[in-house]
Amino acid sequence: MAKVLVVAEQRDGRLKKTTFELIGASAAAGNETHVVLLGDGIQGLATELGHYGANTVHVANDAGLKFYTAEAYAQVVVALAKSLNPDVILAAHSPTGRDLMPKVTSRLGVGLASDCVQASFEGGKLKVRRPLYAGKATAEVEFVGAGPQVATIRANALGIPKPDTSKSAVVSAVAVTLAGVKTSVSEVVQGQAGRPDVTEASIVISGGRSLKNAENFKMLEEAADVIGAAVGASRAAVDAGFRPHRDQVGQTGKVVSPNLYIACGISGAIQHLAGMRSSKVIVAINTDPEAPIFQIADYGVVGDLFAVTPALKDELRKLKDH
Ligand SMILES: Cc1cc2nc3c(=O)[nH]c(=O)nc-3n(C[C@H](O)[C@H](O)[C@H](O)COP(=O)(O)OP(=O)(O)OC[C@H]3O[C@@H](n4cnc5c(N)ncnc54)[C@H](O)[C@@H]3O)c2cc1C
Repeated sequence: MAKVLVVAEQRDGRLKKTTFELIGASAAAGNETHVVLLGDGIQGLATELGHYGANTVHVANDAGLKFYTAEAYAQVVVALAKSLNPDVILAAHSPTGRDLMPKVTSRLGVGLASDCVQASFEGGKLKVRRPLYAGKATAEVEFVGAGPQVATIRANALGIPKPDTSKSAVVSAVAVTLAGVKTSVSEVVQGQAGRPDVTEASIVISGGRSLKNAENFKMLEEAADVIGAAVGASRAAVDAGFRPHRDQVGQTGKVVSPNLYIACGISGAIQHLAGMRSSKVIVAINTDPEAPIFQIADYGVVGDLFAVTPALKDELRKLKDH
């Protein structure tokens, strides 16, 4: 059994699904599972973390933690890690986790296995798998030497356990003293809201250059709205100005691992595959039967996306209505 510290993520008082995945995986392995929850006015979230298997929730509640900054958050996580002395620290491979954990590990003087797609525990030791060479190979990583074994895990890699409302966690308040913090966020201006981020959604519908313009992406948005999916894009679509860069999937965009990835009019260039090949089920719609995307697709439709996508939306709606 290992002592595991999970770094929770919340925004606007709502916990991220990736946090539940990390807690669930740790608890299922029989580990002593601690969670650090940072923010302002977030004490109420500790109960939900208990439902997913956290034994102890360390609540760092402070006005200085209202908005995420690597400086402030790293101070709290490092101080807690030093006093708690966990065997393992887990965080999501989200934009926050990618920013925060290198700072935390450098301050603790330990290594970091990032962007992992599998995690298991054997005799208190963490073993992880992480893709290499744009997903063409996978490395199995074990940790050597002293200090916590630290990993960031891709969203949707571990699966969300069923919450058990009979379970509860011990709640422990963290005394926060932020020293020498040089940056603070005064306001966060939300982008277009309403649709999940590609890295967090369990279904992503992406479009490529063949969509021809930004207006045509509405077709994908309508299909996405039926099933609560996120809308992604290839770099060609982003470079053409059809979608903002935050939606780009791939080597120079975001890495996604949804349960279902639907690629509409995307050729399947290696740089795009680098961002989505670990999706559980891949569906490709493309007029060219030789398009490389079909080599990794579980299901393929050789056809015109302008005909297939609206038909897909109608079928999804029917399924949802029944
Ligand atoms: C350093 C570097 C980094 C990169 N990073 C990324 C990245 O992060 N993400 C990324 O996506 N790319 C990235 N690229 C670009 C990548 O190489 C490809 O150019 C890009 O992915 C192509 O996008 P696309 O599939 O939309 O366009 P195309 O390659 O032009 O493919 C369009 C596809 O649509 C199909 N099609 C056309 N009309 C229809 C229709 N009516 N219905 C159905 N199908 C149709 C065509 O058959 C074709 O397969 C990178 C490149 C480099 C060099």
